Amino acid sequence: MSNITLEAGFEHGNPLGAIRHDWTREEVRALFALPFPDLMYEAQRIHRMHFDPREVQISTLLSIKTGGCPEDCAYCPQSVHYDTGVPAGKLMDLEAVLAEARAAKAAGASRFCMGAAWRSPKDRDLEAVCAMVEEVKALGLETCATLGMLTAPQARRLKAAGLDYYNHNIDTSPEYYGRIITTRTYQDRLDTLSHVRAAGIHVCCGGIVGMGERLEDRVGMIATLASLPAHPESVPINMLVRVEGTPLARRAALDPIAFVRTIAVARIAMPASVVRLSAGREDMSEETQALCFLAGANSIFYGPKLLTTPNPEPDRDTRMFDKLGIVPMVDRPPVT
Ligand code: SF4
Repeated sequence: MSNITLEAGFEHGNPLGAIRHDWTREEVRALFALPFPDLMYEAQRIHRMHFDPREVQISTLLSIKTGGCPEDCAYCPQSVHYDTGVPAGKLMDLEAVLAEARAAKAAGASRFCMGAAWRSPKDRDLEAVCAMVEEVKALGLETCATLGMLTAPQARRLKAAGLDYYNHNIDTSPEYYGRIITTRTYQDRLDTLSHVRAAGIHVCCGGIVGMGERLEDRVGMIATLASLPAHPESVPINMLVRVEGTPLARRAALDPIAFVRTIAVARIAMPASVVRLSAGREDMSEETQALCFLAGANSIFYGPKLLTTPNPEPDRDTRMFDKLGIVPMVDRPPVT
């Protein structure tokens, strides 16, 4: 029965589990439509082809420059367009960032992500971030940054400083994007991703679900990610955190099973990428998170804060890992 269902969406002879960049929306739609047991089985089977299912990669995210962002991302409390009570701060200084990085390493993080609420970095700011990247890397941590749009020379400068990953999310489908952000285009996002890729930096790129999008938008988001010239090495799938003061504060909560399905489809469509169970964990039950790990999520953010929104306390995560027999991923994950 399950084979018949699977084959229905895959008349083109593409085996599930292969790394492909020609995913059609029809194929991705067919994955979303699978009965939940079949979807979970395929996701878990494919996950085991590339990863140890007990291992979850741990990243820590620090906001190095908070608030005052000129962009209008409808989910974001750091935008100047919304009254969310997040004050605009200055770029943190190097020593303060390094203190946080040392603490993250001591807590078991293997990657340290630095986020700045900019449309795009000014060259002077970029130099300060490059100094942070060099010093954090010297502590033995992988480095990741999310600084907004980058030009090709800026991406090369970050690479020269030793940056391992750059995060820039497509957020949603091309069709729904204009309902979420008006201050820059989908193509702007894709351009930054191609500059990052061309500079030789690993790409961290995913999106957010629960923003009022249709299922077809989740299909479009995964199809876009899986059809990039190379799959992002890291694919964060975020559940919307509904922050008071943002336009999405009153959105109805997404059904957790719809979220788990999105993780599973991401796992199947990008078999060798690390899929991150990202924002929204604070409000997620342990049972939902466990299903996400079964669906192929193998990375989380660790620490009490995600930029400006709450994240589960580290103790709570440690207890959940112990309960599930999950251990931190030690080695660098495979690259697509
Ligand atoms: S998501 Fe990033 S770019 Fe968008 S408003 Fe927030 S900080 Fe600015």
